[in-house]
Amino acid sequence: MSLDDALTEAAIGPHLSTCLLGRPLICLPATQSTNAVVREQAHSGAPEGLVVIADAQTGGRGRLGRSWLSPPGVGIWMSILLRPGLPAADAQRLTLAAAVAVADAIAAVSGLQAGIKWPNDVMIAGRKCSGILTEVETGGDRVTAAVVGIGINVNTPSFAPDLTAATSLLIERGGRPVARAPLAAAVLLRFEQAYRQLLAGEFRPVLDRWRALSVTLGRRVQVMPVGDQPYAGWAEAADDDGALRVRLDSGEVRRVLAGDVSIRSAE
Ligand code: ADP
Repeated sequence: MSLDDALTEAAIGPHLSTCLLGRPLICLPATQSTNAVVREQAHSGAPEGLVVIADAQTGGRGRLGRSWLSPPGVGIWMSILLRPGLPAADAQRLTLAAAVAVADAIAAVSGLQAGIKWPNDVMIAGRKCSGILTEVETGGDRVTAAVVGIGINVNTPSFAPDLTAATSLLIERGGRPVARAPLAAAVLLRFEQAYRQLLAGEFRPVLDRWRALSVTLGRRVQVMPVGDQPYAGWAEAADDDGALRVRLDSGEVRRVLAGDVSIRSAE
């Protein structure tokens, strides 16, 4: 079976049933970073809903300046511009909503069961198939612009040995590819629905779904806070703002808002 898998406006358009996201939609053969393109567009006044998708990124980024491998033809590398006017303290909710959208869209389109590792990774069978990078600009204490970057390894045949924690939908489906255009459209529709709930102050169902999909909650974790000492504990709960609540062995409970959290096997 040949798979027509172009990731162009013409290929995605017929699948796209959103009102806001992807209106407009710009598809590029290659760019350094779709988040960077959308940030620039935001500075020149681009409207909320703009989506930029690239077939390849030459300088894709993860959190904390880490690189995100984005080869041509096999992934969805896309960034979404939002202007939510939310309190800056709620910005993390955009990442949670995007993670739920990606995990649910993957399940609907590919049949694979995906989970969410706090805060921004979508996992299948313990390995990362998607990452989300949200960058916000604030004015006063409000989010004036948010760029939500989503990378999904769709048909990546294999990963270099230094990326043992990575996987793709193709790998998890035993070599059967997934068409990228319908998956991209499904992610955008789900994210739009969650975003509307967020704006309407009805975020609870999205949070509940996030909790249900979480592979971090209830697990023993190692927390590596940015610029601070690592510590271990139980990932006990997720607060409404997306912070992870970790109970240390001393009984002390800490809220984690940024940093790395790795899941440990039960001790
Ligand atoms: P994490 O939140 O897991 O630290 P980031 O969002 O920072 O991840 O993403 C960057 C990291 O993800 C890189 O350091 C690398 O280990 C890994 N990585 C890079 N490209 C990919 C990819 N295409 N798929 C899965 N993992 C990747």
